Amino acid sequence: MIPIVKPYLPPPDDLMPALEEILYSGYIAEGEKVYEFEKKFGSYIENPLSISLNSGTAALHIALLLVGIKPGDEVISTVLTAEPTNVAIKLAGAKVVWADVQKDTGLLDPESVRSKITSKTKAIMLVHYAGMVCDLDAFNSISKEYNIPIIEDAAHALGARYNEMPIGSNAPYTIFSLQAIKHMTTVDGGVLALKSQAHYDQARRLRWFGLDKKKPRLENDITQAGYKYHMNNVNATIGLIQLRYVQSIVQSYIDNGQFFDKSLQEIAGVELMRYNHNTRPSYWLYTCLVENRTGFIRKLAESGITASELHLRNDRHSLFAESTCSLPIFDEFYKRMVHLPCGWWLSNEDRDKIVQVIKNGW
Ligand SMILES: *Cc1c(COP(=O)(O)O)cnc(C)c1O
Repeated sequence: MIPIVKPYLPPPDDLMPALEEILYSGYIAEGEKVYEFEKKFGSYIENPLSISLNSGTAALHIALLLVGIKPGDEVISTVLTAEPTNVAIKLAGAKVVWADVQKDTGLLDPESVRSKITSKTKAIMLVHYAGMVCDLDAFNSISKEYNIPIIEDAAHALGARYNEMPIGSNAPYTIFSLQAIKHMTTVDGGVLALKSQAHYDQARRLRWFGLDKKKPRLENDITQAGYKYHMNNVNATIGLIQLRYVQSIVQSYIDNGQFFDKSLQEIAGVELMRYNHNTRPSYWLYTCLVENRTGFIRKLAESGITASELHLRNDRHSLFAESTCSLPIFDEFYKRMVHLPCGWWLSNEDRDKIVQVIKNGW
């Protein structure tokens, strides 16, 4: 079966000597490898204020704390995402407020978001779902107009672009996940990309109990309780080797996605996605809408190809019961939404086969 997701790991000749060296170096905690990784990851996304963490969820949690989210606050978000996006909002104590999506992208609809803003709204959580980028032109102006910060959940969108710049420096807070199945993995890990030195310094303390690692332990003074969210030298070493390959790995997702954009046009029963103005997706998954999704998934499975909806709409969880509201555009989108494999593991024959199977009908 061609899987829908698959972790990329560098060739053992490259990875294992570096891993062995760090494992027996006597320093496996947060140290020089972590700082080197942050620097190099920061140059990849062209944002030097990038702070590494032990998960994307930790990055979301710290972003929400930096915003100052408290119980009673509201954060506008989407049901179309992996659960951590919205679980993190609950962890910070806020109420999740769902907004509806654009019918031809599945991403949050700026006008729906605007209609959900109240005096309690403290942040807008934008998920660049499956590597497609939200309408940042519109969201940047909403953010300015209401003075409400944007948090970008770019766990699916490493290497995607807005205005020709890598995702990671548009909003005051952008999070990336380096979990097993994302574009790039450190086995587990995350990055929070920021826009202010003050946030950066505060985030560094929040990831390590509230202590400032740059100061000697005996001179430290904790003023805000922090977490144990930092990355360690072992994961950072994997990350440093991964960064040698990340550009070409991400490019293979993009090449495959663009291939499907061209090859799946004008097939009866298939509707392709529109990409928002000034954005370039990084196609973590290939997303489209199909008639008779069950039949479509079955037909592809019979041909050795995994297709799936992958995520459960988040409003199905009891945790979010208080947020229930009607989302008519999303309901229609979700009935027909399906993902196709799109990553580095597809050969040219694989992607030709996927197109042919779909063209043959289901
Ligand atoms: C994977 C993921 C996260 C969380 O990342 P972890 O590194 O697994 O904690 C957050 N948001 C989305 C959309 C994700 O897919």
